[in-house]
Amino acid sequence: MNPMRRKISSVVEPQPVVEGAGVRLKRSIGTRTLDYLDPFLLLDHFADTAREDYEAGFPMHPHRGIETVTYMLRGFVDHRDSIGNSGSIGPGDVQWMTAGGGIMHEEMPRVRREGIDGFQLWVNLPAKLKMSRPRYQGVSSSEIPEVEIEGGVRIRVITGAAGGVKGPVSGIAADPTYLDVNVPPGSSFTHQISRGHTAFAYVFEGEASFAEGAPVVSHMRLVVWGDGDYVEVVTSESLVRFLLVSGKPLNEPIARYGPFVMNTREEIEQALRDLRQGTFVWSESS
Ligand code: FE
Repeated sequence: MNPMRRKISSVVEPQPVVEGAGVRLKRSIGTRTLDYLDPFLLLDHFADTAREDYEAGFPMHPHRGIETVTYMLRGFVDHRDSIGNSGSIGPGDVQWMTAGGGIMHEEMPRVRREGIDGFQLWVNLPAKLKMSRPRYQGVSSSEIPEVEIEGGVRIRVITGAAGGVKGPVSGIAADPTYLDVNVPPGSSFTHQISRGHTAFAYVFEGEASFAEGAPVVSHMRLVVWGDGDYVEVVTSESLVRFLLVSGKPLNEPIARYGPFVMNTREEIEQALRDLRQGTFVWSESS
């Protein structure tokens, strides 16, 4: 059977949202338009230079049942959490945080002249891992390989593989790919994605066609592909830069309430009870 090129299934305009203690951001997954793109629960893009739009940050808050992935382009986010990690996520860095059975953390953007620019993706955990031990993978920019392939295409490989290079983030249940792809003008990029896996591009610079014959999509847009074996991105006068993310759908029921995403209402109520009773944070005995 010939490999099948994926077609565009939808193009989504990011919605303005105020989140945390008052951070303005653009949300393209986790809205009324696109509630869930199994296994991806949320995609936020925060890009601002006005301090009042981001300085309030995300003070101490809980998560359970998911993974949160932060990738920075510009500026710094200081963080600390209940499993003893603390530090700063700077330009090109990634933090892949598996909340599992319960974590508390804070994420505070540093006020600087250049402002901030970055992304947060939420990846769902399968039922069997929702109450697992929290895990934290902090990867600095210098540890993320950048490969150049045919056509002058440059790819930063965060997880999954591209151009014969593997990304440093590993052992993630959704078997994800997370790439930062830069295609120069008048070029093209093809990438193989396992059939059945969900795949999207978040276009944050320039424009391109994301399937043969498909209309040109300009930044900022989320492009969702239908099923197939590979994707093809074609540029003309402009370059394009986008996140390419894919993952294996869970096909499980979801119950979501703010920072908790479980399978049933009952489990959400348990999370709220645990929070009230001070037993929320994961421990060996839980
Ligand atoms: Fe958080």
